[in-house]
Amino acid sequence: MQAMSVTAQAIPILSDNYAWLLREAANGATAVVDPADPGPVQAAIEQAGGRLDLILLTHHHEDHIAGTDVIRARYGCPVVGAKADAHRLPRLDQALEEGDTVQLGSAEARVIDTPGHTRGHIAFFFPYGAVLACGDTLFSLGCGRLIEGNAEEMFASLQKLARLPGETLVCCGHEYTESNARFALHVEPDNEALQRRAAEVRRLRAEGKPTVPSRLSDELAENPFLRAPDAATLGALRARKDKF
Ligand code: ZN
Ligand code: FE
Repeated sequence: MQAMSVTAQAIPILSDNYAWLLREAANGATAVVDPADPGPVQAAIEQAGGRLDLILLTHHHEDHIAGTDVIRARYGCPVVGAKADAHRLPRLDQALEEGDTVQLGSAEARVIDTPGHTRGHIAFFFPYGAVLACGDTLFSLGCGRLIEGNAEEMFASLQKLARLPGETLVCCGHEYTESNARFALHVEPDNEALQRRAAEVRRLRAEGKPTVPSRLSDELAENPFLRAPDAATLGALRARKDKF
């Protein structure tokens, strides 16, 4: 069977979150990632044809899961999320571990364990697209706070994501890019790619437009957290960012 491509659309929700609408090209199978606010999520689904086949959850925080049961009831679709956090996620129809796969029509996502922000945080990678739904692990020009994990765990999680193909679209859980860019420039003031990206981000935000998804290859060139050579450096950066 021909592998089918997936496209991603950001759905702005709450104050600065993104849910994501993912569509498989062959027969329009549709998934939503982290549908925390049912109103705008349902509006986006209806605008895309009114079909929902799957709900993907990255982690248990309310700003990612809150609308799950409303959307599930409306569309009658299965919910998948981390087995490690099944006790604090909405009821899961498929409980996932590292290396498991999730089917969306003819497309397939690989589950990547990404602890650090929370213990049971996972990411979904669709190789044809290429789309990475990474919740609060990797942000554009930043990374998630270490709420339940340590720098070693976050470093290992980010390094797994760093090894994905450069063209991968990073579909993260928040619009934090502008403040992340200020910190990144503080860390790497002479990074010209970062300077250009920061200007582009300011322009997009001034126009009220999303700055995501970003390209993984750009993050590798511009994101100080992804560029940190070891866990100690990452931990020090994260501590500085927390007080920036
Ligand atoms: Zn979170
Ligand atoms: Fe969040």
